[in-house]
Amino acid sequence: MDVKRARSPRAPADGDDDKRRPAAGWRGAVRPEMVLLGFLITLPFLAFAFGGHWSAFPSVASSSSSIPKVGRHAVPRAGPATPKRTVVAPPKNVSAAPTITSPSPPSQGKLLGGLLSAAFDESSCQSRYKSSLYRKPSPFKLSPYLVQKLRKYEAYHKRCGPGTKSYRKAIAQLAAGRNVDGGKSRCKYVVWFPCNGLGNRMLTIASTFLYALLSDRVLLMSVPQEQEGLFCEPFPGTSWVLPGGFPQGNPQKLHVGAPESYVNMLKNGVIRSGKQPASTSLPPYVYLHVEQTHLRLSDNIFCDDDQALLGKFSWMLLKSDSYFAPALFLTPMYEKELARMFPEKESVFHHLGRYLFHPTNKVWGIVSRYYEAYLARVDDKIGFQIRIFPEKPVKFENMYDQLVRCIKEQRLLPELGTAEPAANTTDAGKKKKKKVKAVLIASLYSGYYEKIRGMYYENPTKTGEIVAVYQPSHEEQQQYTSNEHNQKALAEIYLLSYCDKIAMSAWSTFGYVAYGFAGVKPWILLRPDWDKEVSAIACVRSTSVEPCLHSPPILGCRAKKDVDVAAVKPYVRHCEDVGFGLKLFDT
Ligand code: GDP
Repeated sequence: MDVKRARSPRAPADGDDDKRRPAAGWRGAVRPEMVLLGFLITLPFLAFAFGGHWSAFPSVASSSSSIPKVGRHAVPRAGPATPKRTVVAPPKNVSAAPTITSPSPPSQGKLLGGLLSAAFDESSCQSRYKSSLYRKPSPFKLSPYLVQKLRKYEAYHKRCGPGTKSYRKAIAQLAAGRNVDGGKSRCKYVVWFPCNGLGNRMLTIASTFLYALLSDRVLLMSVPQEQEGLFCEPFPGTSWVLPGGFPQGNPQKLHVGAPESYVNMLKNGVIRSGKQPASTSLPPYVYLHVEQTHLRLSDNIFCDDDQALLGKFSWMLLKSDSYFAPALFLTPMYEKELARMFPEKESVFHHLGRYLFHPTNKVWGIVSRYYEAYLARVDDKIGFQIRIFPEKPVKFENMYDQLVRCIKEQRLLPELGTAEPAANTTDAGKKKKKKVKAVLIASLYSGYYEKIRGMYYENPTKTGEIVAVYQPSHEEQQQYTSNEHNQKALAEIYLLSYCDKIAMSAWSTFGYVAYGFAGVKPWILLRPDWDKEVSAIACVRSTSVEPCLHSPPILGCRAKKDVDVAAVKPYVRHCEDVGFGLKLFDT
């Protein structure tokens, strides 16, 4: 992946030879069923057969009794008064279903305490309401101020979004090469362009949306074909998809050297920071390149002077590979507003992610079929996400060994025994139902699944708990431009996010998104040092459910003080997996 490769002294010039291998199929329908069934049939014989090679591993107290089951989730009561039914036609290239205000709107519970708008029809995007039934309630409070801000934003987007008179006017001005000064009532836009894999994209979409909220811009997305039909529309009665025919829609033009980039305009004297020119004298748009370069986010962006100048452009094009939301917290002019929106700082991606991202019915079908088939009835779910990066490939044996060390040290799975424990009976002499722990593995490769499944297939657990191991797919290679591949990736991010516990590979934005949605602090499987094959420490627990910003901006802007941001700001810390990275957390 570009981001990580950029920092690697050993990065191959053109990276991922995975791309040339054929893809393997979606395997959810066959394997887990066979494993569980095979395991149950084999159970009586296992007591005789195997020795416990985990015998030194102290027994794990089952915590499943304290974990609310999916089936026990309270079904929220009916909602508020019935709004009028209106159908809103989406712009032509919008892939998700049209938004329809419903005759029976979903209840507050389903709306995540007001985070989601009530103005959608439930059937147009089932995941919006049903996803929460597979999850524990959010551990974070939602600030009424954020709710109010979102409703205000939705109205703004509807007023200025695609298909409106304001939008047509803004596009005409852009095409004519003019920036406008329409006063406070004008519509301003930020257009998101894709970069890297799905996890990266979701983190940058959430960051760009937060930026849009803070800088009064309408968020529009340039959706490439591989991303079409993945997400429902998040804003009612309008669309976030950039319509075709956008005058500056060529993604090839958006790179660090683009003359339209803010930093290059400053360098070339096209604009001057600190000076506040008349809006009409500015170029018709500005490009914000928020990619990490040499361990730093592009300079001169997250500073008050620059934000004031950037605010004068009606159109902003933005491309990023980073979760840059923490950088907004370091911009003095946004600090107060952000504190009102997020009194709990580590809930930023958790809330924004749950607000913005809802898989379309097609992807939701994959998620819900899999969940109902394999995960809905278990007592406890743990997700393992294993990601091997081409710039720092870790041998399979080493990675597997590290995972097992983490499992043992953190007691994530039941210890293996030597013989099947005696049947546990109730007072009435009936056999007690055995606890089932599900392990969900997300990886491009099948080896980790095979080994962990084999371990619990061949050996009993000391506690008598049943461990069922599942892996929805093993795609073998990353395919940035395949729509079908991305559907599976998205489905797996969601399935991981329904787990009670998560252990994940360091540096992976795929994992960051999953634990952020879940609101659980993951165990992070650390990367070996650059000159080592094996990581001395198997895994550490994250201090926050926020994703990591891999390359922080310089604090103090042009003063370029070499200050350690984490030492100055009480609400940021260095990430466990990326030493120079930053993440938000609650003190
Ligand atoms: P990161 O590279 O780990 O930060 O995550 P990204 O999501 O940005 O890019 C990795 C891409 O590889 C994903 O979007 C998927 O396309 C693919 N991928 C990686 N791991 C998995 C996995 O466990 N399951 C599936 N289905 N795809 C994966």
